Amino acid sequence: MSSVVQTRPVSPSKAHPTPPQTPPRKQAKLPEKEEEPADMNIPDNYVAWTLKNQKALPPVSWDNWWRELNYLSLSILTITPAIALVGAYYTRLRWETAVWSVFYYFVTGLGITAGYHRLWAHRSYNASKPLQYALATAGAGAVEGSIKWWSRGHRAHHRYTDTDLDPYNAHKGFWYSHVGWMIVKPRRKPGVADVSDLSRNEVVRWQHRWYLQLIIGMGFLVPTFVAGLGWGDWAGGFVYAGAARLCFVHHSTFCVNSLAHWLGEAPFDDKHTPRDHVITALVTIGEGYHNFHHQFPMDYRNAIKWYQYDPTKWFIALMQKVGLASHLKVFPENEVRKGQLTMQLKRLREAQENLTFAPDVNELPVISWESFQEQAAKRSLVVIGGFIHDVSAFVDEHPGGRHLITKNIGKDATTAFFGGVYDHSNAAHNWLSMMRVGVLHGGTQHGLDDKNIPPSQRLRVARYSELGSGNASSTAYSDSEGLIG
Ligand SMILES: [Zn+2]
Ligand SMILES: [Zn+2]
Repeated sequence: MSSVVQTRPVSPSKAHPTPPQTPPRKQAKLPEKEEEPADMNIPDNYVAWTLKNQKALPPVSWDNWWRELNYLSLSILTITPAIALVGAYYTRLRWETAVWSVFYYFVTGLGITAGYHRLWAHRSYNASKPLQYALATAGAGAVEGSIKWWSRGHRAHHRYTDTDLDPYNAHKGFWYSHVGWMIVKPRRKPGVADVSDLSRNEVVRWQHRWYLQLIIGMGFLVPTFVAGLGWGDWAGGFVYAGAARLCFVHHSTFCVNSLAHWLGEAPFDDKHTPRDHVITALVTIGEGYHNFHHQFPMDYRNAIKWYQYDPTKWFIALMQKVGLASHLKVFPENEVRKGQLTMQLKRLREAQENLTFAPDVNELPVISWESFQEQAAKRSLVVIGGFIHDVSAFVDEHPGGRHLITKNIGKDATTAFFGGVYDHSNAAHNWLSMMRVGVLHGGTQHGLDDKNIPPSQRLRVARYSELGSGNASSTAYSDSEGLIG
């Protein structure tokens, strides 16, 4: 999610200085000249090409830092909290104003999360005109730039996550992705991202045109006037519902770029930095399930479980109920679960790699029955399930007593082990497999398959490159079975 202020509205036609203009289309039904998507003619190796050929500004150092600051953003991000702190010292907080400030925090915050983010940046649902105007107005009260500017940065963030073309690249550190990227002039332009759909949107254009008036009105006048006219608390309205609330909305949404790329789990994909965490959700009006969000950005939800905190999702669902929103997009459950399964298997694979399993059957010597008998005279060897086991170190540890083992030395104890005398546990079978020293020549009897594979190895997580090898389970491949249809 992005942020920062932009006080001077830029006309839609000037917002994109670079995209090549196509000749106006001839179809009569187009109401006006259509802006070509900004990424229409980019090369296939755009990211690598741009990073290599586009000149970046020199790094910020002790010698140049004062020239490299964005003083407008810096002022707004420092003066607002200063007003709030000094004002709070001199102004008593009345409960009506406190309630109003929290309420207004949610109003302006939802303008960003439900409006700027999920509606305009991601088109995750359709909103009716009245709802669009309400969200554009509320979002202006968060003073984070116009919808068009904000969405352009956010789309670049999603497309170039964690690269230098991502305007809030989380690899540059927590504070950079939180506020640094606004305070210091960016070293590079954000990667190209198309917002031609927004240029055509009447509400987006309206907000762009009136942006300065809207931020003054919604950022400070409305919160002050409601408290002033409502219960006579003009100063409190300005300090708490205006400045302090704005400060909270700012850092709340900034957390989506910083905290959500830093704290928590990656249950869907760990390739990039986005993470899921309830704390992030609590401070961002529900934008905390960011690992999910980066995987399924056009889903109107951030939290997919009913008990997870996502008021933005609840708000959009409510708007659908009252007929102001429609076409809420939801990714297919099957694809969502695939992502989760991939990560679960990955973790299981790591756990599997930390364990030692029985020696590979192909690495064990094949021993004849006679040779087994001969060697069993010198050390404690027992055949179970076609494998020869050296149980010397275990004889005295056997829970059933050493005599049950010693009487089977030099013999085939398969039946006794698998239920004849005692139906051994999975643990016993796993442990027994670790004592394998050879394979009995002549193979195993039919029907013993289950007894050959220790329980811990019956299901294994295999990489695709390992499929078909001796250790893979039920992954045999043959051309005749590979027919489609
Ligand atoms: Zn997003
Ligand atoms: Zn993100």
